[in-house]
Amino acid sequence: MKATEPTKIAIVGLGKIAHDQHIPSIGRHPGFSLSAIVTRGAGLPGFDHFTQLDAMLSARPDVTAVALCVPPQVRFGMAWAALSAGRDVLLEKPPGATVAEVQALADLARTKGRTLFATWHSRFAPAVAQAKAWLSGRSVTRGEIVWREDVRKWHPGQAWIWDAGGMGVFDPGINALSILTEIMPAPVHLTSAELEFPENRDTPIAARLSFADTAGAAVTADFDWRQTGPQTWDIAVETTDGTLTLSAGGAALEIDGRAVDQPAEAEYDGIYARFAELLAAGESDVDASPLVHVADAFMLGRRIVTDPFHD
Ligand code: NAP
Repeated sequence: MKATEPTKIAIVGLGKIAHDQHIPSIGRHPGFSLSAIVTRGAGLPGFDHFTQLDAMLSARPDVTAVALCVPPQVRFGMAWAALSAGRDVLLEKPPGATVAEVQALADLARTKGRTLFATWHSRFAPAVAQAKAWLSGRSVTRGEIVWREDVRKWHPGQAWIWDAGGMGVFDPGINALSILTEIMPAPVHLTSAELEFPENRDTPIAARLSFADTAGAAVTADFDWRQTGPQTWDIAVETTDGTLTLSAGGAALEIDGRAVDQPAEAEYDGIYARFAELLAAGESDVDASPLVHVADAFMLGRRIVTDPFHD
């Protein structure tokens, strides 16, 4: 019997996440073969290089999947073009600059019979599935997210994060929301928000959010891009049976202060394993709920103009 050929995939947008994660994870997965790179800059030795997505879609009908590693502001047009051209599409997070874009893409994928995978890499952090399993069926009494990092360390030279649609501190904060929406036994909705904007920027540098779940438990979130020193990516969930703490962005788990052993971090290997499953099943996986909370924060949030860096 003939072995199944790997899916030929193109990466679009050769920036930090493409280099750090997508290229290595595609290389490790036997079900994929990186076959083209679409970048306005120089390509990579050994890979077919295009400066425009449309040119790649026309020239390489054998490339049946694309991974869009571009900023959210330009993702919709590219995803629409790729799905319209009959390709399967993997979207980096956040899946769009607006919620309606994501819905439109999901509808198009269905019409075209293609796979659309709106990825949330933090959901593939080692401890998230265990956290979800532990919380399932338990009564949550309170939750607290603290997601504080140094924008100057993680986003040097990335102008798009400060432009409308770049989401500012929600670019990392949405990772916390992707975990929250995955692990909570009951859905949450935003009840209030306060957003701090640097004077000449479109997007916030800090956000404080309050949620309630449908069972009445309060959850707070503190997102801040001005943290220096050790970085904080923690989620604590109190229940009537004890407290669960996810730290290091979902890599570590404690129940009532006792550490639970976790495998090594492999978020993007998990993403490509899931993409392969979806392709094999001819299914899509599109959950816009983390993006809905960000949109709600922009709708409901009180705005404060701030001096970006106090030091
Ligand atoms: P980045 O380093 O700025 O790279 C984005 C790439 O997109 C650029 O190198 C550029 O590639 C391409 N691009 C196409 N149109 C663009 C435009 N109008 N403005 C800017 N770039 C454009 O960003 P990144 O950190 O890789 O992030 C990309 C996406 O991945 C974001 O949605 C982000 O939230 C997500 N993500 C990032 C990380 C991380 O650690 N950085 C982690 C997880 C997820 P070419 O010059 O090659 O065309």
